[in-house]
Amino acid sequence: MSKRDYYEVLGVQRNATEAEIKKAFKRLAMKFHPDRNPDDEEAKSKFGEAREAYDVLSDAQKRAAYDQFGHAGVEGGMGGGPGGFGGGSASFSDIFGDVFGDIFGGGRGGGQRVYRGADLRYNLEISLEEAVAGTSVKIRVPTLVTCEVCGGSGAKEGSTPITCPTCHGHGQVRIQQGFFSVQQTCPHCHGNGRIISDPCQTCHGEGRVQKQKTLSVKVPSGVDNGDRIRLSGEGEAGENGGPAGDLYVQISVREHPIFTRDGNDLYCEVPISFTTAALGGELEVPTLDGRVKLKVPAETQSGKLFRLRGKGVKSVRSNHVGDLMCKVMVETPVSLTSKQKELLREFEQSMEGSGKHSPRHHSWLDGVKKFFEDMKF
Ligand SMILES: [Zn+2]
Ligand SMILES: [Zn+2]
Repeated sequence: MSKRDYYEVLGVQRNATEAEIKKAFKRLAMKFHPDRNPDDEEAKSKFGEAREAYDVLSDAQKRAAYDQFGHAGVEGGMGGGPGGFGGGSASFSDIFGDVFGDIFGGGRGGGQRVYRGADLRYNLEISLEEAVAGTSVKIRVPTLVTCEVCGGSGAKEGSTPITCPTCHGHGQVRIQQGFFSVQQTCPHCHGNGRIISDPCQTCHGEGRVQKQKTLSVKVPSGVDNGDRIRLSGEGEAGENGGPAGDLYVQISVREHPIFTRDGNDLYCEVPISFTTAALGGELEVPTLDGRVKLKVPAETQSGKLFRLRGKGVKSVRSNHVGDLMCKVMVETPVSLTSKQKELLREFEQSMEGSGKHSPRHHSWLDGVKKFFEDMKF
């Protein structure tokens, strides 16, 4: 399923402000809203597309994820499709009441009020190897699902909820306080607009039940700490048959014993003997897909970084592959025999009286001298 770019859908620039995005969505919604285009499948799908784009771009966090990773950043690999716009216009004005209040007059018919279910968050810990290669994970999520026995109505089989006589289904009542008339949640039905006289025994009238859901999450290759994968419609079930929320899988990558990651680049430290550093040689360094040879030139200083191009991580949002940065650390030899110590002393003597073997020593001494001079006032 190839999807159009969300900015293109709304017809706005990538740097559009929140107000511009809202305005663009309003314009499209005015045109394609199902209330205005009954039985028009094309308008319905156009509206769904615009709603999905707005849903992402109007949420700063989702928008950032989308800007960074495209569609992969805001939804899972599950077949989910755009999050359910199934609840009719009532759920719609509940979700976007602030946007549509002035278009549709805020008038909510006499029907029962439905609410979109809550979004859920699941923390998924994976290894660096899994993050780099991508993986598929089964997760178990405790969530609220629509009660199968009553189909979410909350009423016992054979009975139906009745419209609340106090608020006539509006969920709100007006009460007179002095000169003012104040709108309040209906105390009789608690805003539901309907009353269940004979509740379903499975969900006790809630319409939703607790359930452990097993989901498989496709983690795209290249994800990093803090990335989120959205599983559309896998959050909590909505109330009164409203659309379900989304499930966000938050990725955290375990520390790796060898590599650290910065963006798409990997870093590692490689110990190197003092002799190899001085004379040059070949090292074997680890990469995520096996070992590779690294040529170290003579006179290599400790801490020098060597870049292995294309041995880093492939970006989750482009084909760009990062590099592997190897930092060589010269090791001081330990457990020396007396013969070896003797050789080193001999070696040290051969160096005496000449500064040319220690490239950093002189500038270091100069720095120390300057430091003490600056301290004298
Ligand atoms: Zn039930
Ligand atoms: Zn009521």
